[in-house]
Amino acid sequence: MSITVRPMNTGFVPTNPFQYHYHFSCAPYLKDVPNEKIPLPVFTFLIEGAEKLVLVDTGMAWTERADKYHHPGSWQEEGQDIESQLKAAGYTPADVDIVLFTHLHWDHMFYLDKFINARFICHKREWEFANHPIPLYYKSYEHPALGVEAPFAGKDFETVEGETEILPGIRVFESFGHSPGHMSVEADTEEGSYICAGDSIFVMGNLNPIPELHYNISPPGRFYNIVESWKSIEYQKARAKDSSFLLLSHDKALLDRIRETPVLGKK
Ligand SMILES: [Zn+2]
Repeated sequence: MSITVRPMNTGFVPTNPFQYHYHFSCAPYLKDVPNEKIPLPVFTFLIEGAEKLVLVDTGMAWTERADKYHHPGSWQEEGQDIESQLKAAGYTPADVDIVLFTHLHWDHMFYLDKFINARFICHKREWEFANHPIPLYYKSYEHPALGVEAPFAGKDFETVEGETEILPGIRVFESFGHSPGHMSVEADTEEGSYICAGDSIFVMGNLNPIPELHYNISPPGRFYNIVESWKSIEYQKARAKDSSFLLLSHDKALLDRIRETPVLGKK
């Protein structure tokens, strides 16, 4: 059996392109990008066909939690929560052996209690920062000061550093910048290696150069470290077979792609 990757959308978060998708310096050169909130999907990725069943992120919260504590207007439709998405693919959360977290922001890690048999793995730097964020990131990591309990609170996490093989054909590597310990997941399929890049590349437009500015990419608007973020985008652009092998958590175009091809990686 060969490895495949199944993108599953867990809801929508409205974001302003020049606050999140693109750095403000790009604005004069991106005339086609509207300066208004755009609802972006929140993808998780199920990796099937390896020695164990692997999930990349568990996705966002239910509507009330998302709308009240995070981005107003966010929503999770019936059937979009991770348990329903797994069910549609023929699984239950208890079937998942390993959850790899690209990072620990709120929209990537809800419903952990349902994964009773899974190992949870994230980067060491991410675990440390998520537990001790500066106030600017209290919402992202659901700090107790907000009166909520973060989804990762009290959970057992294993941490990794550097490039690490998780299983034959599945590895993680560092893609810092969006968050301190962001990592990407690479899965070897018959078609080539897919990279689940999480939020390290926020939208596909981040891959485009802006010659007028001497930019070889279009940097994102939301980051912890813009230098690391820039380098992670450059690096993954070069590492991927082509851009169709880069799977982003918030890529709108992926919604259309999975209508045609719900499972990626089969020749
Ligand atoms: Zn995100």
